[in-house]
Amino acid sequence: LARNPGEVEFHQAVQEVLESIGPAVDKHPEYADARIVERICEPERQIIFRVPWEDDHGEIHINRGFRVEFNSALGPYKGGLRFHPTVMLGTVKFLGFEQIFKNALTGLPIGGGKGGSDFDPRGRSDREVMRFCQSFMLELYRHLGEYTDVPAGDMGVGGRELGYLFGQYKRITNRYESGVLTGKGLIYGGAQVRKEATGYGCTFFVDQMLRARGESFDGKDVVVSGSGNVAIYTIEKVQQLGGRVVACSDSSGFVHDPKGIDLELLKEVKEVRRERIAAYAEQRANAEFVTGRSVWEVPCAVAMPSATQNELDEDDARALLRNGCIAVGEGANMPTTPGAVRILMEGGVSFAPGKAANAGGVAASALEMQQNASRDSWTFEYSETRLREIMVDIHDRCYATAEEYGVPGNYVAGANIGGYARVAEAMLALGLI
Ligand code: NDP
Repeated sequence: LARNPGEVEFHQAVQEVLESIGPAVDKHPEYADARIVERICEPERQIIFRVPWEDDHGEIHINRGFRVEFNSALGPYKGGLRFHPTVMLGTVKFLGFEQIFKNALTGLPIGGGKGGSDFDPRGRSDREVMRFCQSFMLELYRHLGEYTDVPAGDMGVGGRELGYLFGQYKRITNRYESGVLTGKGLIYGGAQVRKEATGYGCTFFVDQMLRARGESFDGKDVVVSGSGNVAIYTIEKVQQLGGRVVACSDSSGFVHDPKGIDLELLKEVKEVRRERIAAYAEQRANAEFVTGRSVWEVPCAVAMPSATQNELDEDDARALLRNGCIAVGEGANMPTTPGAVRILMEGGVSFAPGKAANAGGVAASALEMQQNASRDSWTFEYSETRLREIMVDIHDRCYATAEEYGVPGNYVAGANIGGYARVAEAMLALGLI
């Protein structure tokens, strides 16, 4: 704590991992001898830089940019960029730390990193976003490369931002290095199913978890928080699997739509018009816009928090249990507070932690890198099949690891131990570096 003052979310993420890897450390004294825990908690490199840019009225703004290159034992640093006013070093470190284990769980050759800025793209014109992205990349480019560090999107960084970032990287370096960023548009080197991957992947994971308890999505009411990239494609896949999503949200409130969310309308409001969620309720009979209350009060059998960290607390967990919730799948990173996780698991809920359940996004990014390296592009169907196989595999590995270490059904322990062991083995093999 003294070494990383004020980095509250980073402390939370580290504590959550350290609490569950004890059995793996006991079984492998060589990990302790090599001080793997201490080394894994210290980023290999952290970069902080100034991002000056000019708005449409000629006013100058100064934001702060970050890239934390956390661990490259398994491959080049890989992890998204977040543009959100709350971003600070502790946020990026928590996300980068989670990313190490998540990427390890995919079984693909990618290390862990994360980055971003306290820039807020909401309400900014396309030109302003472009100027910001160009200034951000003018500093970041020197740290990137397809064999070094490969960013993607995260909150506030979608197709528009990635296009501007890639355009600027190409311009500075005079290289069409497709593999340097993932989540690119299909027309300039992107991959099918990357946009959908985190939401689809989380739904595939929860589907497996439901099957493990003899259930399915079919006919169940589901609540998804957020209405961004992860939330929208979670809603799409849940609907395809027969579930009914009855609520979703943004930071201004939530919509309750008992007949089931109209996905086309939601995409129009959020992806095309970039409006607030209230606009959805205005155009949908029977849907209600609610502010000042928690979306987790809406009764559901399955909850899929897909907005931001610590958005589901102990009171929310109790409300979910009261309403008969049987499964929670974290589409977002660390959306459930530690106390809420405990309440849910003690209440018999199947709980899928983000580092396993939302790994589909980074897995599809690694598949995009494969396609870029081989100058190939796969079909939507083939890409979705690969994603599904990867998510089933992650589920099964977490499930089996939890059984092996005597905590059956505990996906938190399964994910932490499974991811940790893989990174630790690679770090041992590479020596003291
Ligand atoms: P987006 O920016 O596309 O969407 C974020 C959504 O969350 C928006 O609807 C936003 O609303 C909402 N939100 C933000 N803060 C709050 C809050 N305090 N209360 C309620 N709603 C809120 O981001 P993504 O969908 O890409 O990311 C969502 C989560 O998923 C993050 O935790 C991210 O790290 C994680 N994730 C994303 C991956 C990806 O591939 N994109 C991969 C793995 C994890 P508003 O517009 O009002 O801010």
